[in-house]
Formats: sequence, C-alpha cells, structure tokens
Amino acid sequence: MTGRDPRVVIIGAGVAGISTAHVLRERGFGNITVLEKGSDVGGVWHWNHYPGLTCDVPSQIYQFGFAPKPDWNHVWADGPAIQRYHRDVVDKLGLTPLIQLNTEVVAAEWDDAAQTWTVTTAAGDTHVADFVVCATGVLHHPAIPDIPGLDDFDGPVVHTARWDDDLVTDGKRIAVIGTGSTGVQVVSALQRVAASIEHYVRSPQWVLWAPMSMPQLPGTAALLGRYPGLHKRMFDSLLWGSQILADICTRPSWRRSLVQNYARLSLRLQVRDPELRDKLTPDYEPLCKRQVISGRYYPAIQADNAALITEDIAEVTPTGIRTADGALHQTDIIVLATGFRAHDYMRPMRVIGRDGLSIDDAWGKGPRAYAMTAIPGFPNLFTVLGPNSPSGSIHLQYSSELTAKYIAAWLERFRAGELSQVEVTEEATSRFNDEVAVAMGPTVWNTGCNSWYFTEGNTIDLWPFRRDKMIEMLGRPIDADYHVVLSQPQATKNSGAAITTSTSA
Ligand code: NAP
Repeated sequence: MTGRDPRVVIIGAGVAGISTAHVLRERGFGNITVLEKGSDVGGVWHWNHYPGLTCDVPSQIYQFGFAPKPDWNHVWADGPAIQRYHRDVVDKLGLTPLIQLNTEVVAAEWDDAAQTWTVTTAAGDTHVADFVVCATGVLHHPAIPDIPGLDDFDGPVVHTARWDDDLVTDGKRIAVIGTGSTGVQVVSALQRVAASIEHYVRSPQWVLWAPMSMPQLPGTAALLGRYPGLHKRMFDSLLWGSQILADICTRPSWRRSLVQNYARLSLRLQVRDPELRDKLTPDYEPLCKRQVISGRYYPAIQADNAALITEDIAEVTPTGIRTADGALHQTDIIVLATGFRAHDYMRPMRVIGRDGLSIDDAWGKGPRAYAMTAIPGFPNLFTVLGPNSPSGSIHLQYSSELTAKYIAAWLERFRAGELSQVEVTEEATSRFNDEVAVAMGPTVWNTGCNSWYFTEGNTIDLWPFRRDKMIEMLGRPIDADYHVVLSQPQATKNSGAAITTSTSA
C-alpha cells in the first residue's frame, strides 16, 4: 500500500492537545485538525479562573519542554499567567490555524471497512480521519454533589471550574464546600474579601506549607533568557527533582516519612488551638490524597470571619445550609469546590470502535489503556493523558510530549505505507494493567484514604512507576503488543475484512 499523510483529528486544545499538535507538526504531518469545545485554548487553565487559582507546581517545570519560558513573575504562577502562557505558545508555534474553537465533539465512530473515524460535532459537522487523538483531559467534568435542596437555593451556586467572573463576593457571606487543592485556594482568597466564610469539610486534608506567592528571584528571567543552555539545565534538574517526589509517592522511604512529618508540622506550627487542630487533622497519612500545598489556608481558616464546619451537610435551604446537627447556616453564595468526575475522560462523547464496541462498554469496570494511550477495540485511536497518566507525580507536559511522540511513531509508519490500522492487543493491555496493580501496592495512594485517584473499579488511576519506565514504554512502540494491519480500505461501510493482514501478536 502506498503511504500518505494521515488525516488526524485531535480532540482538545489543552496541555495534551497542544503537545500533540506541536509534535505532529514538527514531524511534518500536514493534515491535523484540533477540535476544542471551549472558547479558548489552555484546557484546565481556560476553564478554571476561580479566585486564588495558582499552580502548586513551580512554573519553571510546569511548562512544555519545547516552549521554555524564563520570565515568570512568580515561582508558582497564578492561573491567568499560566493561561496566557498557553495562548502564547499556541500563537508562537503557529498552531492557531489548526484549532477550531467552540467545537464540541459529541461522537467518534470507527468504520471497519473504510478504516476511518468519523468525528461528529455538536453542530452536526463531520470530520473523517485516519487517526483520532483524545486529548480531553482528566480534571475536566465538574462533579456536582447530590445535596438535597441545592437547586432551590435562592443565591448563586457556582462550581469553581465554571466560575462566574461577574459574581460579587466582596462583603458577602460565602459557603465553600470541599477541601481539595481547589477548596483550599478559593477559601484562602475569598476569606480576604468576604463578610464571612464557612468552609464545609467532610474529610480534612493535610496542607503542606510553602511560600506560594514568592516572586521569581530578580535577574532570573534575564539570566535564563540570555543563556538557554542554562535554562535547559535548570529544567532538567527540576525534572530530576520531580523524580524524587514521584519516588516518595511510589515507595516507602525515609524521604516519604520526612515529607509526611513536614505536613504534620505545617499543621502543628500554624494552628495552635487544639480543638481546631483536631478538626483539621486527617485520619490518613499525608500524601495519600493529592497533596494540598498552601501558605495561606491555615491562617485564613483561623481569621475572625472564617469558620470550619465539619458537621455533615443535611440539606440546602433557600437561604443557607442545614447541617446534620440541625443548625441553619445563612449564606449568600455557595461555592462548590467538589472536584471532578476524573474518570470520564472523553465521555460523554459517544465513542464506538471496532465491531460496534462502545467506550462505555469497554470501560464498564473503569478506564484502562495500554501505556496510558491505546485501548483494545479502538483501532487508530490514542489518548494523551489517558488512564494511568501521572497526575499525581510527573508533570503533565512531560508525559503529554512523550505520548505524542509515541503516537507520531505509529503515524510515521502509516505515512510510509507500512500499516493502515493499528490496535493494541487485549493481552498487552491486561499485562500492563496487572503490572500497574502490583506496582500500586507500596504507593502512598494505597494507604487508606479515598480520593479522585480511585476509579469505579477501585483501581488507582495513576502512574506508579519511575519516569524511566515511561520513557522506555513510550520510546519505541512494540509491534508484538499490537495488531498491525496493512490493507486497502474498502469503499462501503462495514463491507468486509482487511485484504492483507500482518498481525504480529
Ligand atoms: P478534590 O481534590 O477531588 O476535592 C473535592 C472535595 O470536595 C473533597 O474535599 C471532597 O470531600 C469534597 N466533596 C465532594 N463531594 C462532597 C459532598 N457531597 N459533600 C461534602 N464535600 C464533598 O477536587 P479539587 O480540589 O478540585 O482538586 C482536584 C485536583 O485538581 C487536585 O487534586 C489537583 O490534582 C488538581 N488541582 C491542582 C491545583 C494546583 O495548584 N496544581 C489546584 C487545584 C486543583 P471528600 O474528600 O470527603 O470526598
């Protein structure tokens, strides 16, 4: 079969979609379309603009390896600065013409005979593609709690990931539900402007102290801008440092104990009132959930206008929140910092693979993929930041770029006429998932807490291995783990099997 430039549809223009579009363009692929449902690029940084939004990963590492930025204002940049960075990267790399904003994908269906995907948008447009890349993000679909009466509240109810920038919070009585990284940031910010703030905490979190508003040292930007080699070296050292953090999470060690003790100390030194400290003390080990980092939260919750509420929420009334002890807490605004349906991935999009297999059926027991990217039953479809992506340890830009290069390797073989269709085997996927399950054993995420890391099937949806394993797995595709097909597509839908098949598994 003669090769040709594959038609590629990338769904999503966040961190994963930008990485993929850039890598594919760098490799000379010219037929790329990025469909993004939002009105801007940036993914999570576009959707989230709640007060206090900051990234608790230092900006000198929370960036694309291919788009270094020396001149951050802060060591931990705020949300608007990070969103500007993503917009600038897209502009500077010339990716804008590839991206269609305000274009929500509702379905993607594989045609066995034609060996193509048909991608359908909410507006009813269709795109025919040889390959589909789902770069739809992890923390994307807001989780709205099922609290009786919530819909009948008289005032505004706002989820942090759908913040209303016109909402007036100054001088208001505000209730915030949820205490993940988001809840802690939003409480810390709103406490400064609210008349009163009540923080509803079902399970307290360990909050590790760090000077999050620290500016980048004077002269850093000029130095790093002038010497790109030095900047690269700094980036590589931070990558190395992040490996230590990943190791701390994945294997017990003295380093893990040290960080855990630091988290306990952060609470003990900042909260002197034993009763409040008791209420703020989790019943699980630090680092078990995604670690919350803040230098502002403990002072904020001890301010005169703040209250920590650990009673269960019984119901929401038109004027406030009633707790299980019967008390009615009057409030003007309810903020839901209740997290995300992290395991939906590309759903509710309707994705139908080979032999009519739907992604809902394939993932009936929770999402699973081979090497975070390939799903049995779904030929010529890959995910970037898919199941088991290292949301808890290795920074997302890094794994996105590696995954994009892996996908590019398959696309190059399509372009060279070596394959028309590629699909990971069930055997390889099960083997990988078995390895994941074993490696999860000694991780800190498995030490007795609930968190968004756990899937419906009670597996932990993270990367439990070292970075080397990711580099190795994504460095070179292994044919034996895939059905690799080389055949002429047929004209009519579902009209026959492949002509020539070179299945290596
Ligand atoms: P989250 O960590 O999932 O926290 C959700 C919170 O809502 C939990 O405290 C949960 O309590 C509570 N909650 C949920 N339903 C509730 C209900 N019905 N009643 C009372 N409480 C309820 O969500 P998140 O804070 O949005 O953070 C998600 C992830 O986003 C983070 O872990 C992190 O990876 C990322 N993030 C990163 C940054 C950053 O700076 N890099 C900032 C924000 C977010 P339970 O624990 O009891 O379930």
